Amino acid sequence: MSTSDPRQVPELTATADLRQASLREVNEQIGRLSSDWELIAHVMRCECGHADCIDEIEIPPPEYEVVRRFPTRFVINPEHVAWSGERIVEELPGYVVIEKVGPGAATALRTDPRRRNGGAGVAS
Ligand SMILES: [Zn+2]
Repeated sequence: MSTSDPRQVPELTATADLRQASLREVNEQIGRLSSDWELIAHVMRCECGHADCIDEIEIPPPEYEVVRRFPTRFVINPEHVAWSGERIVEELPGYVVIEKVGPGAATALRTDPRRRNGGAGVAS
């Protein structure tokens, strides 16, 4: 499980911000489709802004849920953190949690699948 590909993400563009938003949607789907959601670590897509990234991250569902409470936070490979536009809020084995700052944060808020679906049906 070694990813020795030193990717460089010098700066996030609006395209990268949207890419991250769509990856988050993919991961939300992965979560929804699994009946073992509470029990087994899920293989999620790395939510970084790198256009070529196909990395996967294993994350226990409860931890993913915590990240998702914040619409501006994403789970990504530690090597894929951008130099600007996001900052690390938590480092965990195998992945880091980043928070978008600046214009990217606005995009993250606007595209948050949990907000967009309306606040009425919030589970638990
Ligand atoms: Zn990545």
